[in-house]
Amino acid sequence: MLSPLAVSASTNVVGLIGHPARHSLSPVIHNAAFAAVGLDWVFVAFETQSGREAVEACRALGLKGLSVTMPHKDVAAATVNELSPHAAKLNAVNCISRNGEVLIGHNTDGAGFLESVRTEASFEPVGRRCVVLGAGGAARAVILALADAGADEIVVVNRTPASAEAAVALAPKVAKLGAAESVAQADLVVNATSVGMAHPTDPEAQARTPVDVALFSRGQVVVDLIYHPATTALMAGAAKRGATVVGGLGMLVHQAALAFTIWTGEPAPVAAMFDAAIRALNPGAGGVV
Ligand code: NAP
Repeated sequence: MLSPLAVSASTNVVGLIGHPARHSLSPVIHNAAFAAVGLDWVFVAFETQSGREAVEACRALGLKGLSVTMPHKDVAAATVNELSPHAAKLNAVNCISRNGEVLIGHNTDGAGFLESVRTEASFEPVGRRCVVLGAGGAARAVILALADAGADEIVVVNRTPASAEAAVALAPKVAKLGAAESVAQADLVVNATSVGMAHPTDPEAQARTPVDVALFSRGQVVVDLIYHPATTALMAGAAKRGATVVGGLGMLVHQAALAFTIWTGEPAPVAAMFDAAIRALNPGAGGVV
């Protein structure tokens, strides 16, 4: 059992900026990590429309760092003083650290994704054929990470062709545009669209899949970046066809674990972070969702 946090005037503060931010799992995950390691740190959510001002407040308020979510990832990249190579290529920041007056922008989504598929499906991208469904922020981070990790081919399938072309341009040597049917030939398929997410006013939404699950077969790894619901219709369908399936919670926890290490310089207590996230996603266990 984790001990409750005792916040004082000397507590180090990190937080999330985004809109919406009030339903985020990040405070639960990070505060569990600080408690598990015994650090006098606290993580809070700042729901704000003012991305630039919120990033600059990191300096003014002496925050140790920030997590950044939609819609502020681009403006954060434009506002910090320095960018990591990944954040620069993606032009998107999901984690800010502060070194004195200098704000440094990072992007831990791609590395978090790779850690998730490596640990949960023993999947190593080198020489493999991958399909990424979607071309938004999450898809772009995944495409860049797979290319950097040595994937042989990355087929990008997206509803809006212009976004798909921009995503392909991140990894022009291995990425190309494709259609949903290319899923059948892939070693790894990643759903980075929001199709299949639980929706508060549309109960039908989570029954949808971004591609026909009949395209999947044994030997494939199918990852859905969605983590609510924990098992999407895509994952259930792919598992029935014999594929190995991975949900989005692993990426969420591992990108947070990388941020924890960037801020504190300490190894992250990944198991405690997973436990906290799973409890929060399970309302029957008194969770927040
Ligand atoms: P985003 O930038 O808004 O991109 C959304 C993507 O979904 C776009 O490619 C969009 O296609 C596609 N899409 C949306 N509705 C669609 C529909 N009805 N039919 C077909 N395609 C549709 O969002 P994001 O930040 O990349 O997030 C995408 C998903 O990844 C979300 O489910 C999010 O929860 C999840 N995610 C998970 C993690 C994690 O840590 N597990 C991290 C980030 C995101 P168009 O280009 O045609 O609009």
